[in-house]
Amino acid sequence: MELAIRTAMLKLGGRLLEGLLDIDDGHRGPRAGCGSGHDAEFVSYRDKTIDTVVGPVRMRRAWYHCAACRHGLAPRDDELAVTSASLSPGLARMTARAAAAVPFARAAGLLAELAGIQLTVKRIERSAEAAGTMAAAVLAAESAAIRARRVIPAPPPAPVPDMLYIAVDGTGVPMVPAATRDRAGKAEDGRARTREVKMACLFTQTTTDDDGFPVRDPGSATYLATFDPAEPFGQLVSAEARRRGSEHIRQLVMLGDGAVWIWNLADELFPAATQIVDLYHAREHVHELANLAARLLAGHRDDWLAERLEELDAGDIPALLAAGRDLRFTGSLARERDKALHYFDANAHRMRYRHFRTLGMFIGSGTVEAACKSVIGQRLKLSGMRWNIPGATGIATLRCQEASNRWEQIWQRPHSQTPPANLTAHAS
Ligand SMILES: [Zn+2]
Repeated sequence: MELAIRTAMLKLGGRLLEGLLDIDDGHRGPRAGCGSGHDAEFVSYRDKTIDTVVGPVRMRRAWYHCAACRHGLAPRDDELAVTSASLSPGLARMTARAAAAVPFARAAGLLAELAGIQLTVKRIERSAEAAGTMAAAVLAAESAAIRARRVIPAPPPAPVPDMLYIAVDGTGVPMVPAATRDRAGKAEDGRARTREVKMACLFTQTTTDDDGFPVRDPGSATYLATFDPAEPFGQLVSAEARRRGSEHIRQLVMLGDGAVWIWNLADELFPAATQIVDLYHAREHVHELANLAARLLAGHRDDWLAERLEELDAGDIPALLAAGRDLRFTGSLARERDKALHYFDANAHRMRYRHFRTLGMFIGSGTVEAACKSVIGQRLKLSGMRWNIPGATGIATLRCQEASNRWEQIWQRPHSQTPPANLTAHAS
């Protein structure tokens, strides 16, 4: 009975909405601006059906034609933000929410069950990806405005956090062949099957617990993800850091694994930031070194490993390096040892773990690694999935915005389904 009543109410709501839309027939005089600086001539009234949260709704509105651009338009569509869409803004928003959370086919089921709305899987995919691509384009434009200081973000509300962390990582997303063409990969045929999405997690920290361990400020994490190379990624990160108050916060900390591009980015964008290599990655490298030396050390391996891990925790990299160089290898093993030691040599100043602990800093990049799994992995890396770059960018952006508690901001802009003329989609 309740479901039957809901169906009837949706129908009733649809008629009500049609009645409200009929109040304005969209006639803006004999001529109306075409959007490219010309006058478009009134032609006639035309019908358009849009799907809304109360089901399909038909509206009749004035149709114009621009002779110079040779295309037709309805000013009313633009005002209602339904120009290039057949979903109303309200339904586009619901669709994006469902499709950001679960695969498109399941999103179709959710919308039918929870909202009583029937949409094909393809329309859900198209609408959600378009909303996400648009959100990414708007984000890129806002970031450019912040970097150019055309937009100055408000300082963080008092009490201003003590430290701002920028944790960076990357993870591979499975792609359709066209998205990885001409890219080298690890597969047997040398072709790439995935594209790397770069992720940043920014969060603040003000206090430590009773044992002196840092405590992340609750609700302070915001997330960014892009398939773009390091440089445009860095521009997004630097704008986000300013948005988060980097110019007001005492201490910046950059966290990452050993990847060189992360530290190049840190040097360039945040020269004042303390750089820290994730302790757990560093520990793995110590384990690898011990495995390499397993035969040489024989029964002493475990003791040797324990001593090196202790040196690492203390941030005593010179001692660790000295012990590593004492391993008497020859030939290819010696080269492998030198390669392994280079990691510690190059990152020594980013591994002063005891010192960082004394300062009450986080020394692990777990937040961004967890985000790679939860924000990206659990939606974009499910079994059988193959993405293209715009689609994956769209869904990743929606999920980042949601995880950052910025879902509202995607929808607050008027005409959010129509790209501003000066913006090209962020993804290419
Ligand atoms: Zn025109």
